[in-house]
Amino acid sequence: MSIPETQWAQVAEQVGGPLVLKQIPVPKPGPDQILVKIRYTGVCHTDLHAMKGHWPLPVKMPLVGGHEGAGVVVAKGELVQDFEIGDHAGLKWLNGSCGECEFCRQSDDPLCANAALSGYTVDGTFQQYAVGKATHASKIPKNVPLDAVAPVLCAGITVYKGLKESGVRPGQTVAIVGAGGGLGSLAQQYAKAMGLRVVGIDGGDEKRVMCEKLGTEAFVDFTKSKDLVADVKAATPDGLGAHAVILLAVSEKPFQQATEYVRSRGTIIAIGLPPDASLKAPVFQTVVRMISIKGSYVGNRQDGVEALDFFARGLIKAPFKVAPLKDLPEIFELMEKGQIAGRYVLELPE
Ligand code: NAD
Ligand code: ZN
Repeated sequence: MSIPETQWAQVAEQVGGPLVLKQIPVPKPGPDQILVKIRYTGVCHTDLHAMKGHWPLPVKMPLVGGHEGAGVVVAKGELVQDFEIGDHAGLKWLNGSCGECEFCRQSDDPLCANAALSGYTVDGTFQQYAVGKATHASKIPKNVPLDAVAPVLCAGITVYKGLKESGVRPGQTVAIVGAGGGLGSLAQQYAKAMGLRVVGIDGGDEKRVMCEKLGTEAFVDFTKSKDLVADVKAATPDGLGAHAVILLAVSEKPFQQATEYVRSRGTIIAIGLPPDASLKAPVFQTVVRMISIKGSYVGNRQDGVEALDFFARGLIKAPFKVAPLKDLPEIFELMEKGQIAGRYVLELPE
């Protein structure tokens, strides 16, 4: 397999952008890394937050974003044992972690203080060839389509982990806030596969129609509802509210509202990362209704294996649109306006 010296990449030269489609060197894998020829890579809202510098965590510049990259292993370092050239692999947000700290030792590798983050602290998958630590890369079976599986590598794993963290059980109801977006569309499919009942919350008829196909039993449109709290409660089978709320929205308001429609004893899982946002909850209600509020951050390697296995077994089918790498700036524009139902997946040039 011949590997070129240079390749096409979408590069943000400075915080705030713009993106430049240009030729850059192909990276060389370190001793414990694989080099993946990326075929498809999903576009996550995190990539937009990264380019805009939305978060209190320094971002690498110039930056090649992207962390849902699916492709073929074309080279590997001398310490890599679990991948062969030609295997299909996925590069995720967690590009690598130290393996030695308390969090890594306890399989909480996303919490590793020295974790390398694809498309944030190291270059990601908006390029034809990308590297990642072999122990953190995902194995993708050959019969799994690389375009459809790409969004599972961040969105799928993250929502699967969030649903597990919520402790919600089969037959119970989960409210998914931001159900029409990339994470939300996958969250509905995982929830359905896990035997949960879904109330979907998002805006607009395109997203309503999509959600009703994906598993939402009742859709609440936040752009039209006059009393969102009452509408969400009324949408749960017994009117008492959701057993769990999965917050995927990119605005702050739902993070303040969720305690009002979560059921007593219920759990709120914060996953979305709107800039400069705070969680606020009334102490009295939180205490006397025994409400839990938790954050959930991607997943560990085993969560990744399990989330991919749900997909490989045909249980997860979420809509995605394929676009060429050059279209990334327009996709970011649509994303900023909240106009993407489901996920965009970029196809890399051969
Ligand atoms: P997206 O843009 O595809 O979807 C966000 C959705 O939220 C949109 O459909 C939008 O209409 C909806 N929304 C906005 N305001 C809303 C409101 N008030 N009520 C209901 N819905 C509302 O984004 P995405 O790629 O799905 O990512 C969502 C968020 O999750 C981002 O902030 C991203 O950075 C974050 N994220 C977190 C993790 C993690 O590990 N915690 C992992 C991946 C992504
Ligand atoms: Zn992501």
